[in-house]
Amino acid sequence: MSIGFSVYREKMIQNQLIGRGISDKRVLDAMMKVERHRFVDEALQPRAYNDCALPIGYGQTISQPYIVALTLENLKLKGDEKVLEIGTGSGYQTALLAELSGSVFSIERISQLASQARNRLDELGYINVAIRVSDGTLGWKEFAPFDAIVVSAASKKIPERLLEQLSISGKLIIPIGGSFGQKLKIFENENNKIEEKTICNCIFVPLISEKNS
Ligand code: SAH
Repeated sequence: MSIGFSVYREKMIQNQLIGRGISDKRVLDAMMKVERHRFVDEALQPRAYNDCALPIGYGQTISQPYIVALTLENLKLKGDEKVLEIGTGSGYQTALLAELSGSVFSIERISQLASQARNRLDELGYINVAIRVSDGTLGWKEFAPFDAIVVSAASKKIPERLLEQLSISGKLIIPIGGSFGQKLKIFENENNKIEEKTICNCIFVPLISEKNS
């Protein structure tokens, strides 16, 4: 582990996360443990702990640390959940979900990103992660229902299949809106009634669906 990067990571946690109200100790510990610089190209590593999204190739981005932390805090994971992630990207949030839950099923549509993420997660020893190249709007029916579903790309509406694959009292977090800005929404399945809340404004890359689901 590089000492230099861990100092930057501590500052990120203090200023960007605790400073903005993130308080869940499990989330903060996981964000300290998972080395964000390992999920970007070497040339971008000096910027890995900056307060922003960064390019990961193929027109995609690794999400801003604060938005990832806010998403994880809202999921209130205890450690034994089955989680579905749509948009593996760099694999950074996948690693954090693997730290915080029992198992992670992650879907990415760009095969090169999926295999890079797989290699990184293997190197880091995550054995509770399955990655598949597919259209995530269809979910992963064989392993449904999921206690939590996290979508890391923006959609105009909630993909119906994802709601169908949510467990009783499961939570779905997804950015809803167009390409100029979205609202990060949480949908909670309370006794088969879906409760909707807005977490914050956000900007994500678009969720690209093969079909209109
Ligand atoms: N959480 C990721 C963010 C990745 S950006 C990270 O921290 O690195 C969003 C990702 O969603 C991109 O990699 C994009 O290719 C992927 N994506 C977009 N539409 C998708 C779809 N329908 N199914 C699966 N992945 C999708």
